Amino acid sequence: MTIRLAPLALILAAAPAAADVNIYSYRQPELVQPLLDAFTQATGIETNIAFLDKGMVQRLQAEGARSPADVILTSDISRLTEAVEAGVTQPVDSAAINAAIPVSLRDPENHWYGLTTRARVVYASRDRVADGEIATYEDLADPKWKGRICTRSGLHAYNIALTSAMIARDGAEAAQDWLEGLKANLARKPQGNDRAQVKAIWAGECDISLGNTYYMGLMQSDPDQQAWADAVRIVFPVFEGGGTHVNLSGMAMTAAAPHRDEALALMEFLASAEAQQIYGATNYEYPVTPGVAPSDTVANWGTLTPDTTPLADIAARRAEALRLTETVDFDG
Ligand code: FE
Repeated sequence: MTIRLAPLALILAAAPAAADVNIYSYRQPELVQPLLDAFTQATGIETNIAFLDKGMVQRLQAEGARSPADVILTSDISRLTEAVEAGVTQPVDSAAINAAIPVSLRDPENHWYGLTTRARVVYASRDRVADGEIATYEDLADPKWKGRICTRSGLHAYNIALTSAMIARDGAEAAQDWLEGLKANLARKPQGNDRAQVKAIWAGECDISLGNTYYMGLMQSDPDQQAWADAVRIVFPVFEGGGTHVNLSGMAMTAAAPHRDEALALMEFLASAEAQQIYGATNYEYPVTPGVAPSDTVANWGTLTPDTTPLADIAARRAEALRLTETVDFDG
């Protein structure tokens, strides 16, 4: 009797292939795709990604247990905690991820993990602000800056996180005083995005503004905005007795994740030194993994000493920060 063996290639083809990992992302395609390409190259696991503007949590809730999504990617701690509070995430147990991401930049319950950080800093006019003239966030409320500060809405997530950090550090009363002092120093009503404030400095409307660090890189690499970037330098303000406020971009595994193993493989890859290098350089952000240096462009802006208030504590003050910002009618 002759036993016929199937050719090896057929046996391999019949074995179940690794499933794709499906991603919902608030982060833009050009930031994420280089990472996903590197992941597929390293693991052979393909990815599918849906880029969303809004409504991610509502979509995950509506899809429930049938959701195709395995992993979510977003910037801002408030979006990560919103997902956790809505019950659309699950905890992850990975020694590799825990070793790569500092405790202050991940959820104590292991639902969310930071992947990059960005600092909320001061953009200062090269011509009209001297070195050392501003050193702390508290300084922004000093009357010497009256009529000289520009910012976007106090209700924007970036400013709410900064105010939340102030509450976490110094309490609500101090934070409210600070908001009132800052408002009294504004050159104009809060409006526009972070880059619009730098444009206003370039145009002479104000001397300092609040903005996230990566916008410097984006302006420097955009011929239409380079002049704005050239008009300012970054100052890394610190909280009195603390460091510079940082926020993060991060990831979480969805509660429904149909492909848990592949999702975990992706999350571990994103925490790896290789991915951290790519992610940080692509959007001029700071890698979170100790030992992975920021890109030369980012390093040239100066030295960042991040405040150590845990992001989870900052996220917990969000509602109070919103309330205080409305109480002082910051945008009014
Ligand atoms: Fe942004």
